[in-house]
Amino acid sequence: MSIAKPWIASYPPETAPSLEYPRVPLTHFLEEAAAEFPERHALYFMGKRLTYRELLTMSYQFANALIKRGVKKGDRVAIMLPNCPQAVISYYGALFAGATVVMTNPLYTERELIHQLHDSGAETIIALDLLYKRVTSVKHSTPLKRLIITSIGDFLPLLKSWIYPFVQRRQGQNPQVVYGGEVEAFLSVLKESAAKPVVPDVDPENDLALLQYTGGTTGVAKGVMLTHKNLIANAIQCRAVLYKCERGKERILGVLPLFHVYGMTTVMNQGISIAAELVLVPKFNVKEILSLIDKTKPTLFPGAPTMYIGLINHPDLGRYDLKSIEACVSGSAPLPVEVQNRFEELTGGKLVEGYGLTEASPVTHSNPVWGKRVNGSIGLPWPDTDCRVVDPATGEALPQGEIGELAVKGPQVMRGYWNRPEETAAVLQDGWLLTGDMAYMDEQGYFYIVDRKKDMIIAGGFNIYPREVEEVLFEHPAIQEAAVIGVPDPYRGETVKAYVVFKPGQQIGDSELDEHCRKRLAAYKIPRFYEVREELPKTMVGKVLRRQLQEEEKARHHRE
Ligand code: AMP
Repeated sequence: MSIAKPWIASYPPETAPSLEYPRVPLTHFLEEAAAEFPERHALYFMGKRLTYRELLTMSYQFANALIKRGVKKGDRVAIMLPNCPQAVISYYGALFAGATVVMTNPLYTERELIHQLHDSGAETIIALDLLYKRVTSVKHSTPLKRLIITSIGDFLPLLKSWIYPFVQRRQGQNPQVVYGGEVEAFLSVLKESAAKPVVPDVDPENDLALLQYTGGTTGVAKGVMLTHKNLIANAIQCRAVLYKCERGKERILGVLPLFHVYGMTTVMNQGISIAAELVLVPKFNVKEILSLIDKTKPTLFPGAPTMYIGLINHPDLGRYDLKSIEACVSGSAPLPVEVQNRFEELTGGKLVEGYGLTEASPVTHSNPVWGKRVNGSIGLPWPDTDCRVVDPATGEALPQGEIGELAVKGPQVMRGYWNRPEETAAVLQDGWLLTGDMAYMDEQGYFYIVDRKKDMIIAGGFNIYPREVEEVLFEHPAIQEAAVIGVPDPYRGETVKAYVVFKPGQQIGDSELDEHCRKRLAAYKIPRFYEVREELPKTMVGKVLRRQLQEEEKARHHRE
């Protein structure tokens, strides 16, 4: 059975087909999947499986437990977990309780955690035992009142059958954790709660399902307010784009972190909406992923370019069967064409580039998975998503072909930033979200991201987009990854510096790099400096942290 009408992308958006978005809370997807496919596996984690019926039961139990502990509608509940069953149960449990989820990156330092808990006002957190020290150390400087602690292995013995003989044995296993009072063990919290259904008193249009913090790579993190409707819409748009997927038949490789909205939407929300089995992976490790694909045979694999780059360059690649993969949407950063082609050759599936941002739940564009795609482009706007390219100085819409700031409007666009009306007003005007990305559209309606507005380098009056230089570097066969930033220059204001990572066993000198660039770029765009690195600093979804490179550069200047 096809799950949605085939998506025939087109531009202008008035001609794109419109989808139907049910007015339901996000939890509806889980109830629907559990009613239709109770015995289908919902989660796969470290060799064990959990059915949709079990997942729903546990989510109800967790919701009842939260309600019993005083969590009320609209309260913020923080979840600080890597991908594991507890993350999914906590998420749905909190949503059934009518709460707003605040996803917290497990890599956050104390300072970042304090900021997020303060800003969101979360009083409850569900965290991994390994993070216990960090969480307790910030407790007194934040509104936190309740800590629910879980271990990654906590759940493994329970996944097959719905019993709790291990609860007592496993509790207190981690000597770092002191249970009692406000600190409770996840499994005991589940065990003592009724599995009776909880019908959330939610207005999908206006109530917040999620406060998702962003801006960590660009400044102080702000809470993006996403309603149930926003998240429902993006999951429905996503499954419309993947229209060949079959309900109750797909298996999704869940390597993207669920605590980032990209993984949350494309793996969890979309996946559960088509009753897929989610293969949860807590940490990206190339060899393990290759063997997991071979073993579990996922059909869908949403990811980030660095993940695909890692896989296609692994020396033992030939030993694994990757042919189960049918469709992958790559987002969060530009996808090099060579990577796309090689990955498709290896898997026989489709890998297309998409684009989005947290403020849009997150996806707004992608190339059609089974239709015409254009290399180097982020593709077409998703159904019901309107786009404009505007002059960043005046806000005026620009003609087709001209570079300006991309603005988007659609059912997935956020309510605004939590408690930040000024920041909201700066990016959200009449429903149009200014993305902060410079882009243009070709005659056929395909969009191209030129770069982040604020990453543009101005050298001697010329605008240089780092991405263009990175792509040229990437074309060199010895280069695995590249990042480009602007560094101060006494004459030109700024000049270009490139960081490169070579493929294993390959290395070339600055002069060869220079020659390679000279053949392909105008003189003012050619990097003045090269630095070879073993790896580049990245976010959890594989986005290169240009800002960190800039800060390192600044610190170095200071010292010199
Ligand atoms: P985040 O809010 O963390 O998801 O980051 C969103 C940003 O990632 C966007 O504003 C873009 O700058 C960048 N981004 C996402 N997808 C792409 C893509 N396909 N190509 C280039 N940049 C992208």
